[in-house]
Amino acid sequence: MKIIRSPAAMTAWSERLRREGVTIGFVPTMGALHEGHRSLIREARLQCDALVVSIFVNPTQFGPREDLTKYPRPLSHDRAICRQEGVDVCFEPTAEAMYPEGFQTTVTVPAVARRWEGEVRPHHFAGVATVVTKLFGMVRPHRALFGQKDFQQSVLVQQLVKDLNLGVDIVVRPTVREQDGLAMSSRNVYLSPDERGRAVVLYKGLQTGAKMIRTGETDARIIRSAMAQVIKGEPAMAIDYLAVCDLTTLESLPTITGKAVLLGAARIGSVRLIDNIVVSAKQARRNF
Ligand code: AMP
Repeated sequence: MKIIRSPAAMTAWSERLRREGVTIGFVPTMGALHEGHRSLIREARLQCDALVVSIFVNPTQFGPREDLTKYPRPLSHDRAICRQEGVDVCFEPTAEAMYPEGFQTTVTVPAVARRWEGEVRPHHFAGVATVVTKLFGMVRPHRALFGQKDFQQSVLVQQLVKDLNLGVDIVVRPTVREQDGLAMSSRNVYLSPDERGRAVVLYKGLQTGAKMIRTGETDARIIRSAMAQVIKGEPAMAIDYLAVCDLTTLESLPTITGKAVLLGAARIGSVRLIDNIVVSAKQARRNF
């Protein structure tokens, strides 16, 4: 496995392979790799000839009071996982190379970024959209894989690629969970054993909502309040938002008649958790 740090060297490597007709797959990450990342890497390995994983803790997507400096950076563990999974290039640019002096262009996706995570983390999605655009420019992949775990981010990336004609095929893969259902996240290491036990209630709340929709409930207000009730059963959890949304606009749906995504974010101690479930409404029986 090659470790490349310079953006120019990364682009040169990709351009050489592109000229040979090789399909390049790409999994962008912030490192601290877990089974969720591993599933994206494995799928990319199956779908593409050559595979690049980036490890870059992007400073511009963190807010001033967020965990940029203490974000876990177990680099040798991450490289070992990449090697095990047959990654061809681990791309590890420095913040200086990504944002050299004079850097000024940013990418925003206003409507998709407006609600939910965008409200709680005001500059987060501009940071994400900009770094993804830059990484695509450096890596020049044919295909990039993202996790459904960060649902709003996956919608934003698809919109960005479409709007700016970036020519990268975006694949979104299901959320990988711990045995009890907690969505895997690099930030789960911050949970104390006690908090870790309680954290699953966010997913339990979303599951309650999903079950109601599958069994015929269509009123989003009733669904949101049932989800909130489950989560409030765990007093250590503070809800940031619970939403029943359209899959592409992420606007709230008052009534669910087709597909919807249930989005949730909550805090426990100093850790913020996000999760989601995509669900289809129960189809009314048709008489022929
Ligand atoms: P991150 O390192 O947190 O920026 O995540 C890198 C990629 O891994 C993103 O596309 C995430 O959505 C994805 N990812 C993170 N956690 C999971 C998970 N539990 N299951 C599937 N994908 C995930």
